[in-house]
Amino acid sequence: HNHIDHATPEKVTAAINAGDTHAHIPDYQDFSAYTATGGYDALARLRAGGDWEQVQQQLLDAGLRGLGGAGFPSGKKWGFVRANPGPRYLAVNGDEGEPGTFKDRYYLERTPHLFLEGMLIAAWAVQAERAFIYMRDEYPAVLEILHCEIKALEGAGIVEPGYIDLRRGAGAYICGEESAMIESIEGKRGIPRHRPPFVAQVGIFDRPTLVHNVETLHWIARICREGPQVLNGTEKNGRKGLRSYSVSGRVAQPGVHLLPAGSTITDIIGAAGGMADGHAFKAYQPGGPSSGLLPASMADIPLDFDTLQPHDSFIGSAAVVVLSDQDSARDAALNMLRFFEDESCGQCTPCRVGCEKAVKLMQAEHWDQPLLRELSAAMVDASICGLGQAAPNPILLTMKHFPEEV
Ligand code: SF4
Repeated sequence: HNHIDHATPEKVTAAINAGDTHAHIPDYQDFSAYTATGGYDALARLRAGGDWEQVQQQLLDAGLRGLGGAGFPSGKKWGFVRANPGPRYLAVNGDEGEPGTFKDRYYLERTPHLFLEGMLIAAWAVQAERAFIYMRDEYPAVLEILHCEIKALEGAGIVEPGYIDLRRGAGAYICGEESAMIESIEGKRGIPRHRPPFVAQVGIFDRPTLVHNVETLHWIARICREGPQVLNGTEKNGRKGLRSYSVSGRVAQPGVHLLPAGSTITDIIGAAGGMADGHAFKAYQPGGPSSGLLPASMADIPLDFDTLQPHDSFIGSAAVVVLSDQDSARDAALNMLRFFEDESCGQCTPCRVGCEKAVKLMQAEHWDQPLLRELSAAMVDASICGLGQAAPNPILLTMKHFPEEV
């Protein structure tokens, strides 16, 4: 849905010949365009004497929850970090490695300054001495945009040179887990830490650290600019707010669709232009591979935080993948477990060995369901982090909803 996706070598060459030396960079709102619409006024107002607890209350009123997948109330996080003595740090999780998730990239390639202003507001709120942005290296356009725009912020005196430290990830999915990300920022191998202590107490270089996802910060800026109603003014199916669904798979118009948080898969497929030609809706992944697969018969559930819990699934980062009658749920589940096997950091046995064993069992013509259940229970109970704890979801939900395939 932007020209970076649709570029061809011929188009890029033509653009370069026409004098556009940044042909691969999307047309985004830069620093001067952003400030022309009141950008950074909210930050300046707050820095000049704002009350962080008032802003915290606005976030709570808006119902803003962490949009990286965990859904923890964002305002509460500020309180936990502030409760610990400084120096404190801020870390932005821009690793966006969840298969099917591309909403952070969508916002960063269009309105990077909403994200940057949100980040500086959060940094102000917890008095962060430094802000680290941990950015997915597979997003070269985003890295270049941020590099340029951080320079513009430094040039305008909005931040001290070096205050924002832009770090590149190296392609490990596990570095999207906040404590593994912090290890990686510290220059170590990215493996999750045991908790407690939580990163709000002991984070980067053992200092209290506020971790926010990119899209969360985008909404923090919007709440400060437009008020809490920007989120809490929308209500559907008893749910308040908006969700940026990354929609892919067998739909006519894949892409990011901003819809009410109470939207069902039927609404989401509708917003994505319906099913692709020749495909009938069969199943969906509601929120990344850890959320497993649900059947088309469960199409009336609002896809929001908490609503999928009774169905042993969750919305996560709202990465919706739509499967059709031409897809196999069994193959999709196996693919998900292969991904977890590849991406397991290997630190703990239930996950490292469990993922490998699950892949072997799932390749059999008939799944050994009692053994897969037993293996799943061990992984859920004994893995250190969410990867190993949630990896069995595709196995369990496929056995439950698509028994004829396994
Ligand atoms: Fe690493 Fe998996 Fe254990 Fe998480 S659950 S710490 S990814 S081995």
